[in-house]
Amino acid sequence: TIMKVIVCGGAGYIGSHVVRELIRTKRYEVVVLDNLSAGHKESVPEGIPLEVGDVRDKVFLNSVFAKHKPQGLFHLCASISVGESVKDPLAYYENNVSGTVTLLQAMIKHDVKYFVFSSTAAVFGYPERSPVQDDDKQIPINPYGETKLAVETLLKWVEQAHSLKYVCLRYFNACGADETGEIGEDHADETHLIPLILQVPLGKRQKIFIFGDDYNTHDGTCIRDYVHVTDIANAHSMYIFNWMVIIYAVEHLAKTGKSEKFNLGSGQGYTVKEIVDAARKVTGHAIPAEIKERRAGDPDSLIAASTKAESVLGWKRKYQKVEDIVATAWKWHTTHPNGYETKK
Ligand code: NAD
Repeated sequence: TIMKVIVCGGAGYIGSHVVRELIRTKRYEVVVLDNLSAGHKESVPEGIPLEVGDVRDKVFLNSVFAKHKPQGLFHLCASISVGESVKDPLAYYENNVSGTVTLLQAMIKHDVKYFVFSSTAAVFGYPERSPVQDDDKQIPINPYGETKLAVETLLKWVEQAHSLKYVCLRYFNACGADETGEIGEDHADETHLIPLILQVPLGKRQKIFIFGDDYNTHDGTCIRDYVHVTDIANAHSMYIFNWMVIIYAVEHLAKTGKSEKFNLGSGQGYTVKEIVDAARKVTGHAIPAEIKERRAGDPDSLIAASTKAESVLGWKRKYQKVEDIVATAWKWHTTHPNGYETKK
């Protein structure tokens, strides 16, 4: 049986990988919805409908839902820069919170029952322990994380009032690219570590800045949890796979018909210096690095335990080694030095 789903934000970095993985399972009919503010229409596979519009636009949503009649929806649309969110919190609440409210209202109106929400490590702020567990205290330290927590909380009440089931997937540091090298990370204003480092061997920057080497870690630089974007994408398709069981075998409902929140991490972290070293190995470039002052709001270490995702979703990561992750990113960037603008 084929399930019809809409991937909101499906032209973005992670969304485009979710779309690929959903298609690979052959269990979904996929529609992409994106306003292309940060996404790229070139990332949408041929034959997949792309509805260009905004999740804050009620009229647009009503027409898309009436046309495609989806059963489930993945919501990856968001404004994603922590720094920008501090400067303009209202814009972040408007897109990430109001946008989600409008989307949920349209879903309820059109009886779309399943909702997968892209949440973030940033909901934990300075985590109370490392690795952080799925149910640990959530105290965001910036508007970006706060908007994601607001949606996580709101979903609890929406589920109680309406027949909507949801899953929150909290991504840690998404990185790498599809192994074909056809899609990858292309953010206009790049803030993520691995693509920034790779700009050095690509000749786009002279050196990489490391913000702080006096953190409480083995080499003094911050530890983060890097997960391959295809592994993240896989967590989406597998859970929906379980939902298909719910729909067709009521006896499984007790086990899987429960809204859940999952951390998607590797349980293992790497320091910034280790990531730079991995990039040196993969690219064969010296990649000069310069130590700068600490930035505000960076915890020493942010690693997630994903025992719950592993036991409930059966989630298994394919990419275990950071060099393998960096190699897939490198393949994308060397074949697309100007991202999707690169002429074929
Ligand atoms: P992205 O910017 O590449 O993707 C977001 C997509 O949503 C873009 O294609 C953009 O055009 C679209 N979009 C934004 N606002 C929209 C709106 N109002 N209406 C319609 N489309 C809209 O970012 P990404 O890195 O792929 O992140 C995807 C999701 O994952 C986001 O929700 C982000 O908060 C979350 N996340 C990302 C990371 C990471 O490491 N990249 C980590 C944790 C969580």
